[in-house]
Amino acid sequence: MTTTPTDPQSYTPPTRCLNWCVGGHQASFDDGNPVEVASRHESEDYGERLYGLANPVNGATVRPGVGGWTARLEQPDVIGWRRLALVRLDVDDYDYQHKPRRVVLNLTAGEARVLAAQLVALADAEDADLGMVKAARR
Ligand SMILES: [Zn+2]
Repeated sequence: MTTTPTDPQSYTPPTRCLNWCVGGHQASFDDGNPVEVASRHESEDYGERLYGLANPVNGATVRPGVGGWTARLEQPDVIGWRRLALVRLDVDDYDYQHKPRRVVLNLTAGEARVLAAQLVALADAEDADLGMVKAARR
């Protein structure tokens, strides 16, 4: 029989707080409290602010410098998904008309690794291109 994270028959309540959780739930488990007391595990938050960017030629605002992102590991509290921890990426900024916008992605560990690798590849490509521009100016 194949089980999926959404199969209620396959759900086993956690009996310990997860190693990356900053919620301090283990004492509650050790005291014999029900799993609902520690139904949501979260890691520490990582994140950055998005600073303002201006076009160096004409000074026009490229990015207004508000918003930012946070990333953390969460074990959602929806029954059946408790055993599947997801990386939560929460991004908020403002569009070119200064209207707020927000994107929340809940990624598996594999998806988070793929996204991270793609971001590094793009950043490396941009850095390499900037290096070529600097070399051409010499
Ligand atoms: Zn916990």
